[in-house]
Amino acid sequence: MVDDHVGDGRTAKEQLTALGISLQPCPAWCTGDHFGDDVVLDRTDGFHHTTDDSEIKGLNRLFADDPDVQSVQVRLTSWVNTLDAADRQPARVSLTIDRAVEEVELSPQQAREIAAELVRLAEIAEAD
Ligand SMILES: [Zn+2]
Repeated sequence: MVDDHVGDGRTAKEQLTALGISLQPCPAWCTGDHFGDDVVLDRTDGFHHTTDDSEIKGLNRLFADDPDVQSVQVRLTSWVNTLDAADRQPARVSLTIDRAVEEVELSPQQAREIAAELVRLAEIAEAD
């Protein structure tokens, strides 16, 4: 019988081998870092496929000389319910402010709605 829970300082890849699990292939846009360092995997764990963050910095006009004061991070993400799941959930656009724990995951339509509203407001601001 294969263990359901492994770890003991082993890498994620070594743990997956011990669990007898081969992850389904990543989507083309995934950077492949699903688990980070020092992880203990259980076969019921889920994980995200993700891209690297695109980051827009320097959003606080009071600290214009320090671009790290406020920023927005955007990436693609797709949740997989369990390590051995056959399918992943549809890709979402993740939006985080100041690397906060909370993020919003947007459907492609929601991302387009927000982008359209940002463009609309940007055009008004430029015309002002
Ligand atoms: Zn992936």
